[in-house]
Amino acid sequence: MRGSPHPPSLSARIRPKTYSMNTYTDIIVAGAGAAGLASALAISQSGRSVRVIGKPDVGGASRTVALFDGSIRFLEALGVWERIAPRCARLRGMRIVDITDSIFRAPPTLFNAGEIGLEAFGWNIENSLLVATMAELLAERGQVDITQTLGKAYDFQPDHVRVETDEGAFTGQLIVAADGRRSIARRDARIQTQNWDYPQIALTAILGHTRPHMEISTEFHTRQGPCTFVPLPGTDDAPHRSSLVWMMTPSEARRRQALAPDAFAKEASELTYNYLGTLTPLTPIGAVPMEGLSARTLTAPRLALVGEAAHVFPPIGAQGLNLGLRDAAHLAQAISDADDPGAAGPLDAYSRLRGGDVASRSFGVDTLNRALLSPFAPVDVLRGAGLHALRQFGPLRRLAMREGVMPQRGAPLVMRQGVAENA
Ligand SMILES: Cc1cc2nc3c(=O)[nH]c(=O)nc-3n(C[C@H](O)[C@H](O)[C@H](O)COP(=O)(O)OP(=O)(O)OC[C@H]3O[C@@H](n4cnc5c(N)ncnc54)[C@H](O)[C@@H]3O)c2cc1C
Repeated sequence: MRGSPHPPSLSARIRPKTYSMNTYTDIIVAGAGAAGLASALAISQSGRSVRVIGKPDVGGASRTVALFDGSIRFLEALGVWERIAPRCARLRGMRIVDITDSIFRAPPTLFNAGEIGLEAFGWNIENSLLVATMAELLAERGQVDITQTLGKAYDFQPDHVRVETDEGAFTGQLIVAADGRRSIARRDARIQTQNWDYPQIALTAILGHTRPHMEISTEFHTRQGPCTFVPLPGTDDAPHRSSLVWMMTPSEARRRQALAPDAFAKEASELTYNYLGTLTPLTPIGAVPMEGLSARTLTAPRLALVGEAAHVFPPIGAQGLNLGLRDAAHLAQAISDADDPGAAGPLDAYSRLRGGDVASRSFGVDTLNRALLSPFAPVDVLRGAGLHALRQFGPLRRLAMREGVMPQRGAPLVMRQGVAENA
């Protein structure tokens, strides 16, 4: 069935006759970001008809995502990886350098992927390349309709869901809400959220530098948040490149964003001991205000949340889209054999599969970020002791690395293997 350009829909046999053939698909994915497009690719592989409502957003030239081993395995299964691999950078190591003023700070700590039997923790990918490649693949396969508009209102009924757009109304059995942090689908399904802000803005850029990154991502922990350099492949014009995510107070962000590119690069270089040599911005400096969001439930009748529609937290430890891709993989897994993918059974299964992972990552990243911002000595002691312990105790370090890359219990089937359990 996989090779057919228009595979028969699994649930076509139960499609109510009143649905119009032109506006009905089994699944409607709202949102054409990475989480939505990955969901559409994964779900369509099981033969269901899928419509994506959204405009693939290939902007944001200054942003990259580091995707871990399990996410790469998923992208491989979707046919995305072979197209983008030559343009991604391998992350062999991750280093944490505490440059806060804390008297309890630990020495720099380096984590090597080889310690847990992996060639690399993952790969760093330009956001726009990832989204554009997924959209291109969907268009080529022709199994998924992409309607380039926005979902305006959703009407949830016991046996179907209907979405209104400027291009007309569409009906399906399930909405996959991947329409981001301000999700309209989530609002119309009346799912409550907990929202909060951090006193931080992340400045982003792609930088050229004169020294090689050695395939190691380096996170400098400052009192205003982490300043992270993540390797990128070199180009003819810039043989050494990295992406920068630099979190700081809003007033510092405004000041630094107004600097000339060279002055901005000089400040970043001085903060990080010139470890990459002279820095040169290759893109405009982007700015993202830091906020958090947690949906109270991941599903409602005929709706499943994936990606930032369900969870938002600061970019620390490269967790956000890795979590969103696990949502996409688990959702495809939970509904794969269901006659009615929008029924309570498969949606409950999805909630059970995702709940722990989403809650623990959101809590972990939030706690780490707040610990950095906190001026209290006892918090510094705990943070420093934690890093010391990770440096000193191999088994603990390997456990943390394995868990950081992917939850060790209950990862989506398509992402499993690779992490050496006994390393
Ligand atoms: C600076 C920074 C660095 C990061 N680095 C990493 C990293 O290294 N690794 C990692 O795993 N994560 C990282 N993240 C997190 C990651 O970028 C996000 O988790 C991810 O981009 C979210 O993808 P998404 O598809 O859920 O949401 P989005 O990318 O926000 O996509 C949502 C889509 O829905 C569309 N939309 C909105 N409203 C509607 C509507 N009404 N109808 C239809 N469509 C709609 C939007 O236009 C958009 O295209 C980082 C985040 C930031 C801010």
